[in-house]
Amino acid sequence: GGQDDLRIDYVYKVVVIGDSAVGKSQILSRFAKNEFSFDSKSTIGVEFQTRTVSINSKVIKAQIWDTAGQERYRAVTSAYYRGALGAMLVYDITKRQTFDHVARWVHELRAHADSSIVIMLIGNKADLVDQRAVDTEDALEFAKEQGLFFSETSALSGENVEAAFFKVLEEIFTVVS
Ligand code: GDP
Ligand code: MG
Repeated sequence: GGQDDLRIDYVYKVVVIGDSAVGKSQILSRFAKNEFSFDSKSTIGVEFQTRTVSINSKVIKAQIWDTAGQERYRAVTSAYYRGALGAMLVYDITKRQTFDHVARWVHELRAHADSSIVIMLIGNKADLVDQRAVDTEDALEFAKEQGLFFSETSALSGENVEAAFFKVLEEIFTVVS
């Protein structure tokens, strides 16, 4: 039933990367299931989640991969990036270090992923306004320099999560079709 009955025109693999605890799994579960959990343990071990959307009258199954804790050991393998058409590179706006590591993640992407991969830089936990440690302008400037799209999101409130994924999927559609 449901979306299984839809004719799928394209499957797009999108990877979610970034430091541990920035909210990658919660962003994914917000987009795929419209759910949020303060206790993320349940999502550990899940390889990917899917959501089927319509873009330009085509039915697109977004297959979104989660690192499931591997980022702690720098163990994200090239198999994870293989075939990825999009990447959500997430940092936590309240943790400066997670933004400082973004350049390293971009380097990982350039080394392992296809050169035409669509990359969205995401400053997550935008709901924690009082704890902000990364200026929006700094992130925007970095994104422009590196040719990345940029958005600030909250997996908790859901703000901008859907829009960020749709932007990436629409851009992939433009690139591959
Ligand atoms: P991951 O290690 O990058 O997958 O991070 P998780 O998705 O497991 O999230 C780490 C922690 O941050 C969990 O306690 C989440 O509930 C919390 N979290 C994730 N996204 C948000 C958000 O947008 N706002 C707030 N306030 N907390 C968040
Ligand atoms: Mg996780």
